[in-house]
Amino acid sequence: MKKRAVALILICLLLAGCGETAPRANARTVFAMDTVMNLTVYGGNDTQLNAAEQELHRLDAALARGTEGSAVYALNRDGTAAGTELAYLVRSALAISEATDGAFDVTVAPVLELWGFGSGAGEHRVPTEAELAEALAHVGAARLHTDGDTDHVTLDLPAQIDLGGIAKGYAALCVKQKLEAAGATGAVLDLGGDVALLGTKPDGSNWRVAVKDPADGGAYLGVLATDGGRFVMTSGVYERYFEENGVRYHHIIDPRTGCPAESGIVSATVVCGDGIWADALATACCVVGADASLALRARLANETPFELILVTGDGRVLYTCDGFTPEAGNGYTYEKVS
Ligand code: AMP
Ligand code: MG
Repeated sequence: MKKRAVALILICLLLAGCGETAPRANARTVFAMDTVMNLTVYGGNDTQLNAAEQELHRLDAALARGTEGSAVYALNRDGTAAGTELAYLVRSALAISEATDGAFDVTVAPVLELWGFGSGAGEHRVPTEAELAEALAHVGAARLHTDGDTDHVTLDLPAQIDLGGIAKGYAALCVKQKLEAAGATGAVLDLGGDVALLGTKPDGSNWRVAVKDPADGGAYLGVLATDGGRFVMTSGVYERYFEENGVRYHHIIDPRTGCPAESGIVSATVVCGDGIWADALATACCVVGADASLALRARLANETPFELILVTGDGRVLYTCDGFTPEAGNGYTYEKVS
């Protein structure tokens, strides 16, 4: 897994790299959220990178529901918690749940736990139908509440929440803000293949981001040219999984069934100006499948515009973005859709 992440980072850096006349890139590798992350700031300095690294470690602890003392830990234990960050994340999660008709749902936590994709070092196994039914009885965004505009959040216990589906998108957003505040003008933040771009490339051209090939960690599906306001977030059913009796079970759960999604999507890349939405929508697209993902994009076109690169199990790549150049000769069939 790590080898694959390193290969992807190399590809991203290669493609985002600068020309001969560009200012020196200052890079830092950070391990956080179980992921090898690579931060590159053009013309940057150690103070900026220190601030970015510190923020990633802070969020790693703050967003994990196993961290005693965190707001999310308190919410899951007591059913009530207060915190500006928690309230903001919960509000976002609820809005995305609504927009995706529940395909994205942070209250899926008890089901994740059953499959061993939860907070602890739980064993991977296929749950029984009775266990699934019991866990599903506590799943649903209606069990999670914010209190007006306050920092107060409540949860109808024994419901539980898991912020894993938005953690990296939010982290990318926060680190980007930290770097901007510290004066960075051009940066690529590669959080294990989830990428945030800041500002402009030293030569003024668009950033170029490699989109990973779900079947081959050392290869890519194509290159996306984009400006510095975008987040490029990918979810894939190959990222975390286990096998039992020859069947593969992955970590993206369909909240309707409590089982790993079987939508025909193996990888979904979302390009969006909002990191949280990009991250969550990528997960949601893996749940709902290609047609519903495209319909969702059309539905949110005014509110939260985003672009898609979807890979199906039968080797098709459906993409909506103009700036995407497919990689030739890798066996995929590419289809530009509007
Ligand atoms: P990502 O890698 O961004 O697709 O996020 C996957 C993570 O999100 C999983 O490891 C779970 O923690 C969580 N998750 C899985 N399925 C869902 C779902 N349907 N809605 C919200 N979060 C989910
Ligand atoms: Mg995601």
